[in-house]
Amino acid sequence: MTLRGRLTAAFLAVVLGPVLVGAVFVGTTLTAVDRSRSADRLGLAASTVRASVDALCQQLRAAADAVALRVDPAARAGAAGQVVSRGLAAAVLVTDGTGATTYVTPGAPPTPWQDCSGSRAAPGPVRALSARVDLRDPAGAALGTVAAAQVVDPAFVARLAAATGVAVTLLDGDADRVTFTTEADGVRETVLAATGEQVTETPDGRYARRLGPSPGQPLPLVLSVSGEQPAGLPAVLLGAVLLAVVLAVLAAWRLARVTTRPLVELAGAVDRVAHGDLTARVPVRSRDEIGRLADAFNRMTRETASYVTALTSSRDQLRGHLAVLGDTLASTHDLQRILRVILHSAVAATGARAGAVLLLDGGDVLVGRCAEGLEGRLPDGQLRVPVGAGVIGSVAATGEARRGRVDPQTAPVGEPPCETYVAVPFAAPTAGDPAGRDPAVGVLALYDRLGGAEFDDDDLATLRTFAGHAAVAVENVRVHEEAQRLSLTDPLTGLWNYRYLRESLRREVERANRFGRMLSILALDLDRFKRVNDTYGHAAGDAVLAEFARRVRGEIREVDLAFRQGGEEFVLLLPETDARGAAIVAERLGSAVRDTPITVADQLSIPVTVSIGIAVYPDHASTGQEVLDAADEALYAAKAAGRDGYRVTGQRADTPTAEIPVPAGAVSPEDGLPRAGPPAAGGRHAAGASRPAPGVTQPATGGASSGPQPPRQSRGR
Ligand code: GH3
Ligand code: MG
Ligand code: MG
Repeated sequence: MTLRGRLTAAFLAVVLGPVLVGAVFVGTTLTAVDRSRSADRLGLAASTVRASVDALCQQLRAAADAVALRVDPAARAGAAGQVVSRGLAAAVLVTDGTGATTYVTPGAPPTPWQDCSGSRAAPGPVRALSARVDLRDPAGAALGTVAAAQVVDPAFVARLAAATGVAVTLLDGDADRVTFTTEADGVRETVLAATGEQVTETPDGRYARRLGPSPGQPLPLVLSVSGEQPAGLPAVLLGAVLLAVVLAVLAAWRLARVTTRPLVELAGAVDRVAHGDLTARVPVRSRDEIGRLADAFNRMTRETASYVTALTSSRDQLRGHLAVLGDTLASTHDLQRILRVILHSAVAATGARAGAVLLLDGGDVLVGRCAEGLEGRLPDGQLRVPVGAGVIGSVAATGEARRGRVDPQTAPVGEPPCETYVAVPFAAPTAGDPAGRDPAVGVLALYDRLGGAEFDDDDLATLRTFAGHAAVAVENVRVHEEAQRLSLTDPLTGLWNYRYLRESLRREVERANRFGRMLSILALDLDRFKRVNDTYGHAAGDAVLAEFARRVRGEIREVDLAFRQGGEEFVLLLPETDARGAAIVAERLGSAVRDTPITVADQLSIPVTVSIGIAVYPDHASTGQEVLDAADEALYAAKAAGRDGYRVTGQRADTPTAEIPVPAGAVSPEDGLPRAGPPAAGGRHAAGASRPAPGVTQPATGGASSGPQPPRQSRGR
């Protein structure tokens, strides 16, 4: 049942109960009053009837006495005639001692007459009322009776009725059924109690009571009076009640509607909110409890909507940060950039004013790799914290995250002054040992939460996530660099491989082109290497190749690139170097190899020489491949000229060479990749340690090779 239905029912119960009770009360009270008044009237009428009948009887007795006084029968007849003629009685009857009629006035009503004594003369309708006196002779002997009678007819009854003011009905003998005939109504019938004088109500609203026959009132009468209450009182009352019911129902329905309408609206609005529509509002129609409820509801939804808006925008912001983070992680191996994005996202997600990412710098010092909001807050502008020192240092040392509040005046040395902080370590994720704690590779720290409150556990959890990203990024970059290095280097010698040669050649040619510089290319091939293999075995040959590579690295600058092209063939790229500079390097290389036989397995001393072809871009060719081909041709020429020497493309063998200094400011290429291993220690060897192997012809530049070697410092390194 709805609230409206319940309210309606309650209202009806409250209103209709009293109405019904009142109607019943009014009805019964009116009826009781009416009955009592009618009973009073009937009682009064009964007294009047008794008095009238009594007076009549006395009159009749007097008349009979007057007749009985006459002794002579003729005188008696005369007296009787006088009594009748005077109207004292309607008839006189004289009987003798046996009861036989001796005289009766003419026109007398038929006998038997109802005697005033009350004893019933005979069944049947009463036609006359009589008083009887004994007829005696002067001696007192009974001679008979004299009865004087009055006719009891409708006129008599009507006179009684007129005297009493109520309807009077003469009963037919002892009949209990009484037929009323009133002027207003038609014929009605009722049943009266056989005895007693209690008042009975008839179906048509009349009250009736029986009167006589009894001593003093010998006539069998029924007195009746119509009730005084309005005829249609019950109907009126019923109508009034029905009208009250209808009105009450309408009023209740309307009242319930008015009362429940705001609640219905509220329920609808709550339903809409439950379905996510936070724009739902309810009209505030009053200042009562429901009005206050509606007002509170509206405020609540408004607040909730603004919270949701704020949450949505911060979520969108976070999404944006995460998208940038995801893109950055996916698209680049630029560690610096990744760490910057991670830090920015963490700062935005936790509402910090500042933050920094520190990475372990080889040894025991954490160095700030990127920072946000710390401008001017570091005394020397750089974040350097020894592991174990201060907050960040202890986080890195213990591997435990820390958060809290510090006095800005007493901030640990080297760390930014702050009020609140949270710092999380991150370690390289290593597979296979989930239980063991990996040593931290860095720390992600945030400072001064907006609003002044301390960073909470949620911030810590968020920061751990970002620290995890940082750890993965660091590891990814390391792995990427390693993979890059492995894919571009030759495992035996550690030099760049042929694949990287092609790429480097293209890049270096482009760079030389752009800056208008030269680029020298040296093609190297070990002489008679097949013999080395055949003589000492393939493993020894490999060892010779590795040592050769180490010596090559020891003879070139950091900006120069050394490649193993395949087998025992190598290529060097010397940026910003012309033919003369290249020739110097070739000469130095030749002697570095030639002068010291390569010791293998600590016992074999294998003499090795190398032939070198030189070509220069853009002097000898216009593309990278052409200049490489030119260098190969020069190498072929050097081989043809007897090996253990070098040849410059298009240069005659006897052209003198001189050292050309390479610019001192030459720097590493921009590819950011590691060089092909550190320069071999002790790559230089004393000159003249060995001579070329038998059968190997003198180098084309033999004079240069036997001359003094330029000191290492003079090569502009
Ligand atoms: P030259 O160049 O002076 O004309 O004579 P060579 O004997 O060096 O001739 P060639 O260049 O044709 O022979 C190359 C030899 O190098 C063939 C092979 O036995 C040897 N070689 C090539 N690659 C490797 C390698 O990776 N390890 C070893 N041990 N030997 C190799
Ligand atoms: Mg070869
Ligand atoms: Mg060879």
